[in-house]
Amino acid sequence: MIPYGRQEVTEDDIEAVVEVLRSNLITQGPVAPRFEEAVRDYCRASHAVAVSSGTAGLHLACHAMGLGPGDWLWTSPITFVASANCGLYCGADVDFVDIDPATRNMSVEALKHKLEQAETEGQLPKVVVPVHFAGLSCDMAAIRELADRYGFWVLEDAAHAFGGEYRGEPVGACRFSDAAVFSFHPVKNITTGEGGMVTTRRLELATRIERLRSHGITREPAHMIREPDGPWYYEQGELGLNYRLTDIQAALGLSQLQRLDTFIQARRNGAVRYSRLLADLPLILPGESSNSHSAWHLYVVELGGTDPQAIRREVFEALREQGWGVNVHYIPVHWQPDYARECRKLPAAEAYYSRALTIPLFPGLTEGQQEAFAVDLSQAIHQARPVGTA
Ligand SMILES: *Cc1c(COP(=O)(O)O)cnc(C)c1O
Repeated sequence: MIPYGRQEVTEDDIEAVVEVLRSNLITQGPVAPRFEEAVRDYCRASHAVAVSSGTAGLHLACHAMGLGPGDWLWTSPITFVASANCGLYCGADVDFVDIDPATRNMSVEALKHKLEQAETEGQLPKVVVPVHFAGLSCDMAAIRELADRYGFWVLEDAAHAFGGEYRGEPVGACRFSDAAVFSFHPVKNITTGEGGMVTTRRLELATRIERLRSHGITREPAHMIREPDGPWYYEQGELGLNYRLTDIQAALGLSQLQRLDTFIQARRNGAVRYSRLLADLPLILPGESSNSHSAWHLYVVELGGTDPQAIRREVFEALREQGWGVNVHYIPVHWQPDYARECRKLPAAEAYYSRALTIPLFPGLTEGQQEAFAVDLSQAIHQARPVGTA
């Protein structure tokens, strides 16, 4: 099976991990801080805090922003559940802003409209989580303007977008947001196995997230309430978690980071090839916006026809049978039973979902494989019949 996405681990990566395994400190040693510095510099952010997963990063960032019971978090419905779950972890309520069909990202128009309505009802969000779907940055400058007007925190879910750019700066620079979160799950743009990183320009957020990822403990006398009674002294100032990244994982991340730009270039080349190979098929292909460079984490096509959902299912099954690990990103989060207690209508997200199909795109995918895939996709589309028709 050729998957929709796959990591690339080299002998150098393995060597870097083994080196940590042979050392004294396999966690909380010198490598995780080096990885943090490298990501901070890559993103041109002021601070980077390594965490055990993207989910952990979202959770801690929300917590550090003071999100709690009685507050609202808003995000996009077309995302992985983690973008919304971070609100629930903090005891907040979660709501969704419909997408822009052109970018598949949170629609700024829909956000503006929803904010106007929420203001009259006195239910403005405390945190808004724009998701850079498939690696394409949201319109962060426009979201920043709304954040300044309505007073909410902006937390970028940049799990797909490591290596992407917005207005000439790397995603994660946080020029227009309060923090950004990356994921290093194997399917993402670089991997540490499990892992994540929060970047920010705000010292107070970085300091609090650092403390929260390690039980809420500080060893910094300046941040303590009591006078240390010895050099061993540490203090738990608030309840945190164990969300640390090990040095073993950080070594893999640091080694992978050296190839991030190569990975993104390979993904971009693959995307360009698809736009040529698939141009004549009845599909909506993903685009780029004028002010950003996608990191091309996913390549999602939308199927046409009168009953796209039925056709999508047939095409999906035909391709899977031929060994193509196509997938669907994502089932709208507001349809998940855990979120569906309230009935919400998000027409653009729902229409997108009925047509979406994620096709293989990763650095090791060859031109020959893409050509073969395009032939099989074309055949599958032409053979597909909506369920229930002759
Ligand atoms: C992968 C992903 C996450 C969660 O990251 P993990 O590292 O797997 O916890 C969050 N949001 C989005 C959009 C993702 O794709």
